[in-house]
Amino acid sequence: MAEFDDGGSVKMMPQKTHKLSEYALIVGEQVIADLHTIAANIEQKSVVHVNSTKTGGGVAEILFRLTPLMSELGLNASWDVIRGDQSFFEATKTFHNALQTGMKITKQKNFEDFERKTAENLRDLRVDADTVFIHDPQPAGMIAQRKLDSDQKWIWRCHIDVSNPASDVWSFFARYINKYDASIFSAPQFGRSDLQIPQFLVSPSIDPLADKNRELPQSYIDRVLSKYALKAEKPLITQISRFDYAKDPIGVIEAFKIVSSHIESELVLGGSLADDDPEGLEVHAKVLKAAEGRKDIHVLLIPPFSDLEINALQRASTIVLQKSVKEGFGLTVAEALWKSKPVIAGATGGIPLQIKNGLSGYLVHTVEGAAYRMHYLLRNPDVAEKLGRYGRANVRQNFLITRQLMDYLLLMISLRRKELVPILAPPRVP
Ligand code: UDP
Repeated sequence: MAEFDDGGSVKMMPQKTHKLSEYALIVGEQVIADLHTIAANIEQKSVVHVNSTKTGGGVAEILFRLTPLMSELGLNASWDVIRGDQSFFEATKTFHNALQTGMKITKQKNFEDFERKTAENLRDLRVDADTVFIHDPQPAGMIAQRKLDSDQKWIWRCHIDVSNPASDVWSFFARYINKYDASIFSAPQFGRSDLQIPQFLVSPSIDPLADKNRELPQSYIDRVLSKYALKAEKPLITQISRFDYAKDPIGVIEAFKIVSSHIESELVLGGSLADDDPEGLEVHAKVLKAAEGRKDIHVLLIPPFSDLEINALQRASTIVLQKSVKEGFGLTVAEALWKSKPVIAGATGGIPLQIKNGLSGYLVHTVEGAAYRMHYLLRNPDVAEKLGRYGRANVRQNFLITRQLMDYLLLMISLRRKELVPILAPPRVP
């Protein structure tokens, strides 16, 4: 959270959560009234979310905001974390990579470390509520605490892409997951035909009131531009992403080089670099090499917790790119669309849920495709404006935190009705 003085200087405050009434200004009173009506229909009021960290990462971020909103709606909502140690987190990181890439990289020791720490958590942490949301693989083993003689509902909420998992890790987890009442995935193609429990689609969301997305004074945006030596008068093309091959930063530079030979513009590739991610360092080095000698390509290392600066860079952009070749959901796309930016993005993961090609942005498959679309939008600002406007409407309708809250409430009700609908409807077209 931050406060600004008139000159765009910023005084940092701890991040804060918001009341539902504050969201009414954005999504309308009716959505808030609907949330209250639906929550009032939930008879089993206690709900607990469990994941593996209180800080860092998108899951913690959304639980930090969602839990108080559930409480405000009259639910007895809480959030717990399991404890881990180094060997446990090494194991779960290996599982994460194996599940997302399909690579057989897991050792027997990883499974043993996971089971040992899970047993400790089962001993030390009591998970007890009418509805239990277990987030991601790390706490999946907590299902052993399910009270078999009760009406408890346990839901496994998967935030990662398990469409092509390493079979050893997937079958290890499927033993846990099949004991749940239901599972939730972020995109239709992440669902699993071999699960024996109902699967629901609930896309992630962004918080329009968070520092990453809220309105900013122009004076602050200007300060960020001058901090990074960016020229406000030239078109600015931006991709904000971890330095990761999946985000195709080299492809972004190649596409930009094609466009900038016709239209003078600037490229920002901004992202963070974790010391413990050797691949990130390698990708960053390759990006620097590809940008060598180019004053119009700005490779920015953005420290963690720079939400306001990321917000400002997205807002200052003429076009936002997310040229991923593999993606989970792609929250940066929703973030940019919410700022009414025309977005050109890879047709992968959850991105096609957010972008209807030619209506709320452009989907691309190649460097040449990205270059063609960039060139077209720079030459046709009226089209860029329309894509941005429609993109924002789409995010307002489908990808704000209030919609995710609504989906969770509906799921809690749906699981206790006989007429269970296994897959929730895909996003609505505004
Ligand atoms: N992000 C950030 N700093 C960076 C790069 C990205 O805070 O240097 C944020 C970005 O704004 C978004 C999230 O991290 O909110 C990335 O989510 P996304 O789903 O786009 O990709 P992921 O990194 O999870 O693959």
